[in-house]
Amino acid sequence: MNTILAAKDLCKTYVVNKREQTVLNNVSLQIKPGEFVSVMGPSGSGKSTLLYNISGMDKMTSGSVVFKGTELADLSEKEMSVLRLHKMGFVFQQINLLKNLGIIDNIVVSAYMAKNGSRKEINQFARELMARTGISELADNDITQASGGQLQRAAICRALINKPDIIFGDEPTGALNSKSANEIMEIFRDINESGTTIMLVTHDVKVAAKTERVLFMIDGRIEGDYYLGKLQAANNDNIEREQKLLQWLLEMGW
Ligand code: ADP
Ligand code: MG
Repeated sequence: MNTILAAKDLCKTYVVNKREQTVLNNVSLQIKPGEFVSVMGPSGSGKSTLLYNISGMDKMTSGSVVFKGTELADLSEKEMSVLRLHKMGFVFQQINLLKNLGIIDNIVVSAYMAKNGSRKEINQFARELMARTGISELADNDITQASGGQLQRAAICRALINKPDIIFGDEPTGALNSKSANEIMEIFRDINESGTTIMLVTHDVKVAAKTERVLFMIDGRIEGDYYLGKLQAANNDNIEREQKLLQWLLEMGW
């Protein structure tokens, strides 16, 4: 089967006060190249932990995660961070841009690290990304001169600068108003349309309804996998998708 990412019997256990807590309980999943997937589920169900473990940001306790043919459990920390730098992009709810750098500098820094072209080429690509996400005018600003929505666009540019195969987002619209959230989802849709695989954790039915496939987690397990199909043009059939998704979530016991 054609997969970009496959987890098998993935477990993550934390030990807190000498007691073991199983946060991921034998999770298996497969993501195809080009898919646009969201992960929903109650708070504490393990969504963020899933994202961190399948992206190698955290070390799984047992099981297997294969990303583009590479078993993550076999990689050293150094090898894992190189793979992440070149092949994965991350967008978080908390926008952690560096305060003492300008916006464009924040976007290019990981491409300089990856030596992805000359500085001139990298800066040029950063400006293309800023144009694509509608923040061209901010290139020379520092981050105190931008709104939350604009900063999240900059964070998306940063995630895209090394042309990753997959973007992971942990509640990337969670701190935004609904208009900015819609705009950010439109950017994600555009990125996905150009071929990048995307996996987003979200609480928001409106956000999940814009993705292609919704995974539902309860107590560290994936309890449901719902296929909505790709959203074709911005917002066209979205109410119907939201209703279908909501109906399914209710059936799943949310
Ligand atoms: P979600 O993102 O679905 O809200 P999380 O993945 O953040 O859930 O957390 C799932 C469970 O794992 C929670 O009960 C949380 O307290 C626990 N957990 C997360 N990170 C740690 C950690 N570093 N140490 C101990 N427990 C943790
Ligand atoms: Mg979380």
